Amino acid sequence: MPKVSLVGAGPGAVDLLTVRAARIVATADVLLADALVAEEVLALGRPGVRILRVGKRGGMRSTPQDFIHRAMARYARLGLKVVRVKGGDPFVFGRGGEEQAYLEALGMEVEVVPGLTAGLTAAAAAGIPVTHRAYTHGVTLVTGTAGDGCGEPDWAALAKGGTTLVIYMGLNRVLNISARLIAGGLTPDTPAAAIASGTLPGQRHIKTTLAELPARVQAGGLASPAIIVVGAVAALALPETQALAEAQPELGAALRVLAA
Ligand code: SAH
Repeated sequence: MPKVSLVGAGPGAVDLLTVRAARIVATADVLLADALVAEEVLALGRPGVRILRVGKRGGMRSTPQDFIHRAMARYARLGLKVVRVKGGDPFVFGRGGEEQAYLEALGMEVEVVPGLTAGLTAAAAAGIPVTHRAYTHGVTLVTGTAGDGCGEPDWAALAKGGTTLVIYMGLNRVLNISARLIAGGLTPDTPAAAIASGTLPGQRHIKTTLAELPARVQAGGLASPAIIVVGAVAALALPETQALAEAQPELGAALRVLAA
């Protein structure tokens, strides 16, 4: 039966790739990679592996999802080992669910390799425990962008939910998000943070309040990819000057050993 692997490549730092993901990438005949997947991960591929970069960055036009679906199916039908590599976890804002459904409808086998999702990992890398029993009973992962078909998140309901909010893809709409959460009942001084390029050498974060967040994001020139964290635990972020991410040593060799 034709088979496709949907593989999470983790949040950015190459050494946060799972050993299983490294092994599977190293056996691929065809790699279909999103923009956030590091070149070092793709470099684990065999010599001659076909690499299709099918991601989008920022406001740029994306590869149509339909093209990705059909390419995966076409290569798998040829008997090739097809590996779809995505940033973070394939099932967290990664369209992995759509790809799985498409392939299964064609009678193909789908293997899913989870990855560390950016929201939880970037928060941790900035020193934020997304749950902490003294502050909150949970965490909600939500997109800041109005998705096709499912509209905008219900910010008023999220404001009342009492969990930590981890907002993906929200940087461009931070003004709107901040205003709606405050209108929904969160106080303007609710702790908030934004973490850009989490776990990567260029990691930066801002630690502030919900009301001040939009101005601080703009003044600080924070750029995508970034997540926003809203809730009491955001006050536990490291001082802004301190970042846990360090420059990556040469990891390629170590990864190749793991993948072997
Ligand atoms: N499947 C991915 C998410 C894809 S959506 C995952 O599980 O992580 C892309 C969004 O993820 C970005 O807009 C940003 O909000 C977030 N993101 C991805 N990598 C990030 C990183 N290194 N630091 C901060 N946010 C990141």
